[in-house]
Amino acid sequence: MAVTGSKSQKNTSKQLLLVLLFILACLLLSSSIKFANQRNPSDLVFEDGAFHIPQFDYVSGSSVCISDNLIFVPNVDYENIESGSFYYEKYTELPYADNVEISLTEGWSDLGPDAKWHNCDDYPQFAPIHRAGKIKHAGTYLVTFKFEDADDTYYLSLPDTDGLVRIYCNGVNLGFLWGRQNEWDPSVSFGSGFVPIIPDNEGYARIMITISTNELIHTPGILSYLTITESYSSERFTVVPALWLMVQLMLFLFILVGGFLISRTFKNKASFYILLATEFLALLYTLIDCHFISYDSYTHERFKFGLFIGLSVLVYLLIHVFAISNEDKKRFPVLRITPFIIVLAGALTIIIPISSNQPITTTFPILPEIIFTGVIILISGFNALTSFYRQESSLHVSIIEVCYIFACVNIITQSSGIYNLPTYSVFLVIANLTLEFYFISRYVIQARTLEDTMEHMQFIVQEKTMRISEINRDLYKTNKKLMENEQARKTVLSNVSHDLRTPITAIRGYAELLLSTGKTLPDENKINYLKNIIRRSEQMERIISDIVELTRLESNANEFQFTDVSICELLDEVIMIYEADLIGTSKSISLDIPEDDLLIVKADPKKLSRVFENLISNAINYSFEEAKIEIKAWREGEGFDIEHQTVHIDVKDNGIGIPKEEIPMIFDRFYRAKNSGQNIKGTGIGLSIVKTIIDRHDAKISVESAIGTGTTFHIVMKATY
Ligand code: ADP
Repeated sequence: MAVTGSKSQKNTSKQLLLVLLFILACLLLSSSIKFANQRNPSDLVFEDGAFHIPQFDYVSGSSVCISDNLIFVPNVDYENIESGSFYYEKYTELPYADNVEISLTEGWSDLGPDAKWHNCDDYPQFAPIHRAGKIKHAGTYLVTFKFEDADDTYYLSLPDTDGLVRIYCNGVNLGFLWGRQNEWDPSVSFGSGFVPIIPDNEGYARIMITISTNELIHTPGILSYLTITESYSSERFTVVPALWLMVQLMLFLFILVGGFLISRTFKNKASFYILLATEFLALLYTLIDCHFISYDSYTHERFKFGLFIGLSVLVYLLIHVFAISNEDKKRFPVLRITPFIIVLAGALTIIIPISSNQPITTTFPILPEIIFTGVIILISGFNALTSFYRQESSLHVSIIEVCYIFACVNIITQSSGIYNLPTYSVFLVIANLTLEFYFISRYVIQARTLEDTMEHMQFIVQEKTMRISEINRDLYKTNKKLMENEQARKTVLSNVSHDLRTPITAIRGYAELLLSTGKTLPDENKINYLKNIIRRSEQMERIISDIVELTRLESNANEFQFTDVSICELLDEVIMIYEADLIGTSKSISLDIPEDDLLIVKADPKKLSRVFENLISNAINYSFEEAKIEIKAWREGEGFDIEHQTVHIDVKDNGIGIPKEEIPMIFDRFYRAKNSGQNIKGTGIGLSIVKTIIDRHDAKISVESAIGTGTTFHIVMKATY
């Protein structure tokens, strides 16, 4: 995501600083590796024209290095030696230079400041002779060793030369250095390796190193200090690259196995294969460059260059595909074509020298290499610099680019041969490690995000499952209730029809009786019958009005008329009706209210009367013969603010009671407790009406009941005064 404003600027400058620091570290690293790669000349005794080689310590193994006191005879090559026209002592008759120092970069173009020419007064210095073409492209170095222990075996190590090298010891041809001669161009051969030295009886070894070149070779001659070693393994210049290669091999195997395991989870494994190929090419390059795989120098160099191109293409393909976002490719169109530019530059640098019919020399393909490397450096520089201005600003891309620039520069600036540690290879390894680190961190981040998402999903699923089971539970409850309601409705219907049928049958009976015996029936009886008809009609009316009232109450159609109501007065009136009803029965009703407190509440008096009527008639209905109904009202919270004062009303009976488990249901519509039985007629509507009215009054109703002992309905209302 693009970061804006000063924060992004701060980040960019921080990253730039880090890259600059990294470049500095790379400079330090490359110069330290170069320093470590130097062969340090030993403090050997040079006497009577010979280096005195001491007896080596056999156990630890050792080697000595020489850098100067060589003799150089220009224009003498192996043909002169083979034909016998030149032998060791003959150099004094020809122009030669002594006190020659080995140049690590320029071969015999630079013989050192102390070199002194003999037999060529016309040519006081070597370089002008060379430039003037006076020296042919051949030269012979002479050096004499005096071994203290002539019986031991010694080797001469010559890791870096430019030209076709032959070595002679005491006049005997020890052969070419490593590798074969190129059939196409016999002058092409890289000297690199070891030859065994056989001293004469007195311990002297007179060494002649001839180097033949042609005019295209830029740095003819010996390019590394000579080393005398006691055994092949004592030469650290082969041990260190071997160890380094082992490190690279381990790294490659690690990526191969680890990457393979990780990539099994990838949808697209292309990135892994490209990374693997990159690592493999880097390994192969080092392997070939360090002469662990040896060819003639022409094939060797051509192969190396091909690998270099392949490696560059793969590295940039990886960066291009995985480290540069599509947005950035749109913003910087040049980023889109970088891999193609590299492929094109690589192809051209291979095709042009081949098609131009130019003899390819030891330096092949130095010019194409320079051009190609230039292209890489330009692209890398551009990538490294623009990296911070891209959307996917990335430090790792810049680090890879910087490493690659250092690797390229070291590839073209280092002369070939065996090295302690190939500098370019170190940078390639850092670049590849950064690339791998980038991939691994990306993988880890993706895995973590996936894990988080999974956890989140699991949480959501759990939550949803819980919610669904809750809904299911509710649905189950509702369904159960609906079924119960349905059952209750059926019962009510049968009750209602039964309740209605009873008065209807009675009314009809009385009517038929009046009709048939009307004329003969005494007036008194007539009046009784007619009274009964009226009573029954009233009963019917009550049942119907109960149902209608509940329906109206529930459909909210009916309006409540709230006013200040005195609970005491209201209860007084209601009780008066029932007292009259109970006269002549063994049932009694009592009222306990405060004498000096009217207990005023906000209520609809008619509706509230209905509540008490229902509760009292239930108390009468569901009680035994000796019923005792007690009604009590009182105020709570006296002395507090009126908001904290409440009016309480209890309607208590000593009747049949309600089974404990059924108490929560008795306010449901049409619900009748099991113990209400067939004998006590009812519709199960009364308490629903009570509850609806109480709810509308913002009051509370609760029940306490015990089977056989009685029931108490308890109402709490807010007091108004
Ligand atoms: P109904 O009385 O017409 O059946 P209600 O809604 O008034 O309907 O009462 C519902 C049920 O509550 C009654 O059927 C009865 O089982 C129970 N009930 C109500 N009041 C009492 C009470 N005072 N004593 C015992 N049971 C009661």
